[in-house]
Amino acid sequence: MATAAPTRDGELIRRAVDLADLNALRVALYQNTRDAALAALPVAAKMSDADKALLKDKAVRWLEENAGRAERPDLPEPPEGELRALMTMVTGQPMSDVQFAARRDLPAFRAMPLAAEWPGDKPQIPSDFRVAIIGSGPAGIAAGVQCELLGLPYVVLDRQPEAGGTWTINRYPDIRVDTPSITYEFSFEKRYPWQELFNRGEAVREYLQHLSRKYGVMANSRFSHDVQGAAFDEARNCWVLDVETPEGRETLEASVVITACGTFANAAKPDIPGIEQFAGQIVHPAAWPQGLDLAGKRVAVIGNGSTGVQLLGAVAATAGHVTVVQRTPQWISPREGYGKPLPEELAWLYEHLPAYWNWARYTATAPLFDFHLLQRVDREWQAGGGKVSQGNDAVRATLIEYIRKETGGRQDLIDKLIPDYAPLSRRPVVDNDWYKSLTRDNVDLVTGSIARFTRDGLVMDDGSEVKAEVVITATGFDVLKYLLPARFTGLGGKDLHETWAAGDGPRAYLGMMVPGFPNMFMSYGPNSQPLTGGTGMPQWWLVWAAYAARCMMRLLQEGKGRVEVTQQAFDRYNQALDEAAKDWLQMTPEGGIEKNYYVNRDHRRLQVNAPWLSEDFHRMCTVVDWDDLALT
Ligand SMILES: Cc1cc2nc3c(=O)[nH]c(=O)nc-3n(C[C@H](O)[C@H](O)[C@H](O)COP(=O)(O)OP(=O)(O)OC[C@H]3O[C@@H](n4cnc5c(N)ncnc54)[C@H](O)[C@@H]3O)c2cc1C
Repeated sequence: MATAAPTRDGELIRRAVDLADLNALRVALYQNTRDAALAALPVAAKMSDADKALLKDKAVRWLEENAGRAERPDLPEPPEGELRALMTMVTGQPMSDVQFAARRDLPAFRAMPLAAEWPGDKPQIPSDFRVAIIGSGPAGIAAGVQCELLGLPYVVLDRQPEAGGTWTINRYPDIRVDTPSITYEFSFEKRYPWQELFNRGEAVREYLQHLSRKYGVMANSRFSHDVQGAAFDEARNCWVLDVETPEGRETLEASVVITACGTFANAAKPDIPGIEQFAGQIVHPAAWPQGLDLAGKRVAVIGNGSTGVQLLGAVAATAGHVTVVQRTPQWISPREGYGKPLPEELAWLYEHLPAYWNWARYTATAPLFDFHLLQRVDREWQAGGGKVSQGNDAVRATLIEYIRKETGGRQDLIDKLIPDYAPLSRRPVVDNDWYKSLTRDNVDLVTGSIARFTRDGLVMDDGSEVKAEVVITATGFDVLKYLLPARFTGLGGKDLHETWAAGDGPRAYLGMMVPGFPNMFMSYGPNSQPLTGGTGMPQWWLVWAAYAARCMMRLLQEGKGRVEVTQQAFDRYNQALDEAAKDWLQMTPEGGIEKNYYVNRDHRRLQVNAPWLSEDFHRMCTVVDWDDLALT
């Protein structure tokens, strides 16, 4: 990474301050100096040039005097009232108590802020108590770290040969996070030396493996262990796991199972007639053949979601010709700093201005606090001729302008690229020069449904042909296949997937628990991906792990054998969830409900997201409502 050696080099300091996020700079500097003039400044968006100059000059002066003196740039968490005042200073907006509780750990002053701790003395842990965590992606690692903290025996099982989950499985060209690196990291591993503002998949994988090693999880992990299924033994209150290992089939027992199997674990393979006739190669990005040589080849890329958009530029740079096949256009937006290295100056600032890293993390997330306001239909606005709402229509206009700019005003492309549904109703797709790639001589764009494969490629619904030697199916993931192909059998021999199928698809209480399946917690389960307000996924993996931990602690403290959500609580929660989901753009015609893969279209209900405001969901998952649970 960019090196961050101690220095008082004035030029470096000035460059670092010029690159800094001004809200983070101001609050960090204030925290170090208590300079009232800094407190009196407005938020960056409202700063005059003179305000900015004042702030920057103060920062430069302080750094010239102090940089290199601070041994460690970590400041302790300020007292609660002060922390809240600093958080308010960053955004310029007051927050409710619930919002404060959900956001207070975003600056990550505390090491393990979200983890559960024994409320008193740790009880004697029965010798046969053990937790099985299925999956060693970030959710599984978070659950492992939580078990380490509580001193609970556990094992992590993953069918992959190494840790990292998504970031081990997906190795397609140019894979990287599309949320800022500083927010896609755990609060307990501060200032990881990232190389880029949006990390490559490989770097995320290394980071996760580093965490797993450093916090002791790796030593408890077994790789190439594929859990085929698990059944609850009612007489002994334990799960019996059936595991495929390199040495053959193994049975493993665990008092508690935490599934950290990932929402994006099952690739959605296109079900297109004639696929067996195709003479060329079919490649899914989640199974990218290492060393795949596309040089000079005719390639078709099916899909324009996050993955299809990420890989097109790299594919088009080597392939002879690429046809992009889109069923429906996507709203694709730029991200500042995407694809760029972390500037040396910023890395230096993280190391030398105490609390700057913390507040940079906070400011990277803060723009999402009000994101939900853009995701609702405003009927009054519509009555006045608007499409969705004032804010959403403004986003639409900006993105259309972006399409025009990136395509160089090519009307033939523009006509095919503007979606007919509202922006922000699907997972945002981040541009990786996708629009620009479409303007290359060796790339063309086809819109429509694929009718069938032929020996030489694809035939579209309108009869047109797409010749291809390699077809890349960037068709996403089957998010309805939670946990599959593993099967889980709960009380009374009840099969989890049959239970879900008999209803209206995968459901859980808080995304984690299902009645009849005691001592089982899902991380990133059905309807758990926060829709709004954004605090970043790593926070959530810790929150869910801590929820399971609180339940396990209670079991152990009370000497009970089972913890389970009651049917009433499950039903009540899911009714409220359906009710809350109705208001979101995703569930409306304006939001393209028919084509949104976050929606369970068979049952016309929200499937992936939690429709709650982020802070409300945070409260539900951090303050356990014991009345909803049965401990026996
Ligand atoms: C390509 C891609 C890019 C993404 N980019 C972002 C991003 O930029 N920002 C963001 O916030 N989110 C992103 N996500 C979503 C999410 O952050 C990641 O998917 C994340 O890795 C999920 O973590 P997880 O631990 O829940 O699951 P995963 O990382 O999917 O890990 C699950 C693990 O469980 C294992 N497993 C599953 N079932 C079994 C079984 N029966 N037996 C044994 N092992 C099993 C799998 O092998 C896998 O290793 C992305 C997702 C994908 C697919």
